Amino acid sequence: MDTTHGLPPAVLDLSDPAGRSIHTLFGQSVVGMVHLRTDGTIVLANQAFADMLRTTADELAGTSLVALAAEEDVQRERTTMLRMIDGVLPHHAAEFVLERRDGGTVALQFGISALLDVDGTCTSLVCQVMDVSRLRRAEDFMSRRALFDPLTQLINRTLLIDLLGDQLRVRQNPFAVIAINLDRFKAVNDSLGQSTGDGVLVEIAGRLRQALQPGDAAARIAGDDFVLLCGNITSRAQVDALTQRVLDGIAEPIDVDGLRIQLTASAGISLVAPGTGQSGDEVLTQATQALKHAKERGRARWKVYDQEMRTASTDRLRIETSLRTALDEGLMRVAYQPLRDLRTGEITGAEALLRWHDPFLGPIDPPDFLPVAEETGMIVPLGQFAMSQAVRAVATWRDLTGLPLCVSVNLSPHELNRHGITERVSDALDVARLPSTALRFEITEGVLVHADQQVRRNITDLHALGIAIGIDDFGTGYASMSYLKTLPLDFVKIDRSFVAGIDSSREDQAIVRATLELAHALNLTTIAEGIESDRQLDLLTELGCDWGQGYLIGEPSTSTAMLERVSG
Ligand code: C2E
Ligand code: CA
Ligand code: CA
Repeated sequence: MDTTHGLPPAVLDLSDPAGRSIHTLFGQSVVGMVHLRTDGTIVLANQAFADMLRTTADELAGTSLVALAAEEDVQRERTTMLRMIDGVLPHHAAEFVLERRDGGTVALQFGISALLDVDGTCTSLVCQVMDVSRLRRAEDFMSRRALFDPLTQLINRTLLIDLLGDQLRVRQNPFAVIAINLDRFKAVNDSLGQSTGDGVLVEIAGRLRQALQPGDAAARIAGDDFVLLCGNITSRAQVDALTQRVLDGIAEPIDVDGLRIQLTASAGISLVAPGTGQSGDEVLTQATQALKHAKERGRARWKVYDQEMRTASTDRLRIETSLRTALDEGLMRVAYQPLRDLRTGEITGAEALLRWHDPFLGPIDPPDFLPVAEETGMIVPLGQFAMSQAVRAVATWRDLTGLPLCVSVNLSPHELNRHGITERVSDALDVARLPSTALRFEITEGVLVHADQQVRRNITDLHALGIAIGIDDFGTGYASMSYLKTLPLDFVKIDRSFVAGIDSSREDQAIVRATLELAHALNLTTIAEGIESDRQLDLLTELGCDWGQGYLIGEPSTSTAMLERVSG
């Protein structure tokens, strides 16, 4: 490597015509080219290379390229470069960030070739150089986009899972994963518009960041789902205090777009002890399961994942096993809950609700077994069972009372996705000699949001058959009113959580009022579910809600009980 003394060795013999043309090529090449001594001093650079550094070829000659390069790049490449200079390695590609004459930096890709003399000693290096700055910037941008949430600049789910994995491997002390979801953020989005909703999310992200200690992380993993990763947890009390602080912070009024908004949030916590062999995904699932429990117990609270929830997931396994035989063994029933026309006070029909009483597990609620049924495909025979029972029941009621009663059946996403549903339904009506108005279908908002061609066609066909189709639990999912226009729908059912708050919360009342107005403007009938008190019933009637359902009007019961009710 002893080339620091004396003249640089000649690269090209300019007296030789080949040498001259190569020299010309060097000068005229649009690709950056630079000839270096083995210590990194520039012997000759072409203008294309000089342009990359915002300087001239003359100014570069004799200066050290190494001095311009980022220290970490020089360190990284040192050993490889020594191997080139030792004549061991003839070619090498490397990337260096160099300082430009104007003080900026540029990322350059070097294709380096060692020039060897006859005895194999490396005399100098020739490099072809490409500016890859733009590419790197684009890559940085992409990887930022791939790992960060563009709206809030918090890390996204991918990076969170990565970080969690790292923490699980290296951490010696316990840490906490806190899943946070805003309570009814959708109502904000729907009523105030998405840009205001975005403003709220950005503000919340800022508050979460502030609540963190150095080394902790905050992520937004979906819509209004946030996750905190908090290390150095020494006690349960500390986690409780932290979570309370975070939830209190979120509940502070938010000023956005000239509006003052107040929201609450719920949280679920997974406390992680190191060395349990859990994966990042598992830990996150535990936190979200705990969050679900917190939500089910009302808003603005939190819950730590515990033994009870672990048991619940084992129960799930038992449910899955028992579900397979329940239908065959006649353990499934359908209950009917009356629907009332709020204007006339008449009972107009009933909603069909599945009931399962297992001799060992006891009564199992639909929310506990339906998700399992969906996942295992059992929902198809279950749905067929519910529908055939419901059709038989409504035929009996109509025959025996002469009243134009209807039955409303819940359709799962799975069922709506299947071919031939319209034919099966139409056959069932024919066999029972029922008009299509005797049957109604309730589908969830989620179905609407994710509706593909098949689902849309099925909904359109069923509607064309004359069957009323409506959206269940309206206001809880992610569909906005605009979705209602995209499909031929007939009614919306206002979710019982809004009905529950209608007599106590101004916000709930405003939501119900707005939903009723919009639905009516779209020519949709409105049904309020979960009416439990006279006051709720009166308010809904006053607000112009068309139909009602709830324990106050009647609890789900047998087909015979329904018949007695309408006959009497
Ligand atoms: P959903 O369609 O919203 O049904 C109404 C639920 O609210 C029923 O719970 C009913 O028992 C309950 N409910 C009725 N009145 C009141 C009230 O005044 N207060 C309160 N707090 N609750 C009331 P259930 O039977 O547990 O059903 C839960 C969900 O399971 C249903 O929600 C529906 O989405 C689904 N489901 C039930 N049967 C079927 C079915 O045959 N097929 C499908 N795909 N889903 C079903
Ligand atoms: Ca329903
Ligand atoms: Ca409902």
